[in-house]
Amino acid sequence: MKKKLIAGNWKMNGSLAANEALIKGLVSGVGTPNCLVALCVPSVYLAQCRSLLTGSVIDLGAQDVSQHEAGAFTGEVSCSMLNDFGVRYCLVGHSERRQYHFETDAVVALKAQRALASGVTPIVCIGETLAEREAGRTEEVVKRQLAAVIHANGHCISEIVLAYEPVWAIGTGKTASAEQAQQVHAVLRAQLKAASSQADRIQLLYGGSMNAANASQLLGQPDIDGGLIGGASLKAPDFLSIIASAG
Ligand code: PEP
Repeated sequence: MKKKLIAGNWKMNGSLAANEALIKGLVSGVGTPNCLVALCVPSVYLAQCRSLLTGSVIDLGAQDVSQHEAGAFTGEVSCSMLNDFGVRYCLVGHSERRQYHFETDAVVALKAQRALASGVTPIVCIGETLAEREAGRTEEVVKRQLAAVIHANGHCISEIVLAYEPVWAIGTGKTASAEQAQQVHAVLRAQLKAASSQADRIQLLYGGSMNAANASQLLGQPDIDGGLIGGASLKAPDFLSIIASAG
């Protein structure tokens, strides 16, 4: 049976001292969870986090990767660099990357392709803005974003993780209701099924102000296979509580 995945996104937070305290708290409290767990950390801390996570059940993730293999791309991090640090997952197309770094659907699709080719599982993030939701365009937007990734990745699509993150719910404290999230997840699942006979194995995460109080209800929906958690992943007790809800 497919396990749920609970992935933390630290965003641009952390310090050597804070990371050590947080990871030690998580490693000592996580026990043997019934779900997969990962932490997507800033790239400068990959080495530190790799060493703190060694021997634990928690996997290491990155927050972004270049669509290029190597070369004159100052400031970028390549998939082979992620491989050097035992990175299992990499976020691609997070709405903050789309918004502040102007990443297009095509670039996000290439990043997913590059990650898959390197054995790193891309957690592909998609989601509508508040204006798009209010204009009744949610389905159209998320289907367009997913179609670009399906188009670029063909039969490999069953190897991705997909995260539905309504932009209006990220970091705002406004969570999508379990029904709203399930409705979009069902649409995405149908789109994936039309593209791949293996679509049922794809983990579909929900992200957007998931916390210890609302996790059980969201994770109880039939097409929600885990969570991508920002703010609440920075506090060990909150993140551990979400992990327990996924069991
Ligand atoms: C995120 O950064 O992907 C996210 C879902 O953040 P938050 O949980 O803080 O809304």
